Amino acid sequence: MTHIEKAEKLLHQKYHCSQALFGAFASDFGLDLKTAFKISTCFGGGMRQGGVCGCITASLMVLGLAFGFYDSQDTEQEIYGNKKTEEFIRRFTEQMEDRAGMARKTAKNSILGNIVFYEEQFKDSLYNRKFIEENMQAAITERQYLMYLQPKYSISKNEIIGAEALVRWKHPERGMIYPDQFIPIIEENGFIRKVDYYIWEEACRFIRRCRDEGLGDCPISVNVSRAHLRDNECIMMLDDMITKTGIPRKLLELEITETVDDQQVSSKAFQLKEEGFTLLMDDFGSGYSSLNILLETPFDVIKLDKKFMENMMVSAKGRLILEQVVSMTNRLGLGLLAEGVETKEQVELLQNIGCDQVQGYYYAKPMAAEDFFTLLKKQNQNK
Ligand code: C2E
Ligand code: CA
Ligand code: CA
Repeated sequence: MTHIEKAEKLLHQKYHCSQALFGAFASDFGLDLKTAFKISTCFGGGMRQGGVCGCITASLMVLGLAFGFYDSQDTEQEIYGNKKTEEFIRRFTEQMEDRAGMARKTAKNSILGNIVFYEEQFKDSLYNRKFIEENMQAAITERQYLMYLQPKYSISKNEIIGAEALVRWKHPERGMIYPDQFIPIIEENGFIRKVDYYIWEEACRFIRRCRDEGLGDCPISVNVSRAHLRDNECIMMLDDMITKTGIPRKLLELEITETVDDQQVSSKAFQLKEEGFTLLMDDFGSGYSSLNILLETPFDVIKLDKKFMENMMVSAKGRLILEQVVSMTNRLGLGLLAEGVETKEQVELLQNIGCDQVQGYYYAKPMAAEDFFTLLKKQNQNK
């Protein structure tokens, strides 16, 4: 018997429409008819409060069960009153639209024909993706992207030597959104380029401000997404920003992530190098091509990946490799900076093997540009 036939049968037995409809789906959720009727009777209060008809109330109940708002095994959670109904209607209306859309997207052949239930695991992927895609553009015009700065330190001088610009998205309703939640999505759809331009420009302005306010030259490194490697637009944009802000080119440092056997990285790096930019190889040691890239690409500074450094530090063999990497970069005339430094032991070991530049929570977390500016000012006053 189909759900429609079941509902019709119950209606003929003079059950209220919400009871009939809810009862028709009861067995799908492991409820017996008696429990289903008990629940839907209690929902009557909610129905009156919400000013909705019985059919809608019943549909809400069916979907509510599907969304896991009711556990028939958990008697404490049983919905016996208007309080729960109120909460349910609120939560339901909040989430209904997005989730229904998600379920529609994944609709295949469900047991219930064309009814597909939202599942929690869709949330991360589809809901988040949809949110990002619908809001990423407005976030530019509304200036919701923020440039955070994480200081880089010299261990020996115990002072700030620059910073890395890291994007944050401060959404008025969702709050702070971190790169891991949106960068992979906007890298896929290409929007990352716009966000990068936005952050690069912020970085240029920050460098300008430091010079204007007597804090001298503070190099800021920015991340360059792979999406830029395909065309020449980024060079034009960089030129434009540098000219507009009138800062020395070398102060805007470009972080490029090492990737497996990538001709694109190399040729773009040569171009950028020719233009006079400082190039940092990001995440060194996280892939397999680090040494080849060193040979083929004109980087100025190597940024040791956090994981690589941690892995190497736990054994004598690893420490030897690390030591050799430091000595190799010295002999190649390259700069070296260790990322993700969190402990005193790491600082000491790095110092012992001759790596002086560090970035990580041990010294400072990424912070709002304004806070970094204050920190820099304090450092300058104490000099
Ligand atoms: P990344 O370039 O390797 O940046 C370093 C990440 O490590 C940052 O995460 C930073 O907050 C975190 N970090 C720094 N010190 C420590 C530490 O001591 N311990 C630990 N556990 N983590 C530390 P964040 O800001 O979440 O950025 C993640 C990634 O997102 C970045 O990795 C970068 O690949 C990307 N990203 C961030 N901002 C931008 C941007 O403006 N443009 C582009 N294209 N990518 C960006
Ligand atoms: Ca980086
Ligand atoms: Ca990195």
